[in-house]
Amino acid sequence: MKEECGVAGLILPEDRSLSNTVAFKLYYALYALQHRGQESTGIMVYDGTAPHSIKGMGLVPDVYSKESLGRLIGNVGVGHVRYSTSGGSKIENCQPFILNFKGGTVAISHNGNLVNAKALKDELECEGRIFISDSDTEVIGHLLVKELIRHKPVESIRNVMRKLVGSYSLVIHINGILYAVRDPFGFKPLCFGEVDGGYGVFSESVAIDTLNGTLIRDVHPGEVIVFTGDGFESHQIGCEPHPAHCVFEFIYFARPDSVIDGKLVYKVRENIGRELAREHPVDADIVSPVPDSGITSAIGYARESGTKYLECLMKNRYIGRTFILPGQELRETAVRLKMNAIHDNIKGKRVVLVDDSIVRGTTSRRIIDMVRRSGASEVHARVGSPAIIAPCYLGIDMATRQELIASYKTIKEVESLINADSLGYLSIDGLMRALECDKNDMCIGCLTGEYPVEIPGENCRRKQMRLDDFNNMEDSRIASSNS
Ligand code: AMP
Repeated sequence: MKEECGVAGLILPEDRSLSNTVAFKLYYALYALQHRGQESTGIMVYDGTAPHSIKGMGLVPDVYSKESLGRLIGNVGVGHVRYSTSGGSKIENCQPFILNFKGGTVAISHNGNLVNAKALKDELECEGRIFISDSDTEVIGHLLVKELIRHKPVESIRNVMRKLVGSYSLVIHINGILYAVRDPFGFKPLCFGEVDGGYGVFSESVAIDTLNGTLIRDVHPGEVIVFTGDGFESHQIGCEPHPAHCVFEFIYFARPDSVIDGKLVYKVRENIGRELAREHPVDADIVSPVPDSGITSAIGYARESGTKYLECLMKNRYIGRTFILPGQELRETAVRLKMNAIHDNIKGKRVVLVDDSIVRGTTSRRIIDMVRRSGASEVHARVGSPAIIAPCYLGIDMATRQELIASYKTIKEVESLINADSLGYLSIDGLMRALECDKNDMCIGCLTGEYPVEIPGENCRRKQMRLDDFNNMEDSRIASSNS
């Protein structure tokens, strides 16, 4: 199952009287992370003895009410927004995953995708463990509870990390304490900050901004951070020689106002536009974005090329998911409801249309046709990512290889299929320049078909740290806010 998610955790000082502040703040944080998942959401708050939670299918403002949140009393909590595709759309998969066991209460919010979830689940099922969901987060939960019966939390988390292969940014609650965990490659983002005298851990820094907090830093790959309301303690459990941050977070997924692994996403996208302009210049009258995801790169392209920036398309801000309407005419009405062309800005112009990515190619075709119908004399497509040729197994819902247009068509063929006068994809080197980093420090599996971890039937780009190396690594306490 492929998932795209947002995670959140918040802990306030213990001396603060129990209130619903944590619940309301988590609600706002999840609202800020809504772009990471629109299918379901959940919040769990712990009152010192028991967990209280709300979970539901749908968007953040639809699932919670002032009354229901008001009943979630406690100084520590975790939250989640989730989006999944293949068959996983059901309440059982809604997170945070909460387990009550002999030693207390665990709640887990997970962003990422485990490559070895099935093998781990088979093993646990053979031991008699019963699963209620098909989410790999439940696998992590069972493994963790098994460890917690015998070990302390950090040791337990470390033992679980040894078993997991894939991507995981986790926010975990165990008996009133909050833990942030990032896999040794640091695939998915995770950062923390000071919020309201305590600490908050989130998928993206925009959640910290929303709560009027202060970003402290990203959670390092392979790091476990323990948060009490009064301080935090870091344990560097083990990490790979090179990180493998997900490149698609920067291309499309994250909000441009987030800072991820020290980089402002907006700046990266503007750089992407500039690189695109250098690599694929074209004589044109205007540069226009495909809203909203192409806006920042289009600004970069216009600035670098000196071509006028003018919007050709407007997106309906209030559109949620539209259901599939019967009949071609109604379907086309639904497309126009989502996006409309500004005819006067387009008529008779040579247009450079900048989008963040082409996945299946259907969106580009529709949009280019729309711009042509408004009278553009030429439409040049510029794409802020290299061709996506391979699926993602590590947390982005990218489509299967057969659906990825660039996996079986040449650039010229894609150009004619989307009906563009010319098509230019950013190169991998150009993307790395925009990111100001080395490709060895990013996961670019979707662009190359070579992944940082072993995936059955796929190529592994580099030797992964062996589990024994990982096991022998010293658990070094590297920093602590209160020692
Ligand atoms: P298409 O080529 O028709 O599959 O659509 C590509 C467009 O969908 C891009 O312009 C992106 O803005 C958006 N997109 C790219 N990746 C994803 C994703 N993983 N989930 C949802 N939308 C995406």
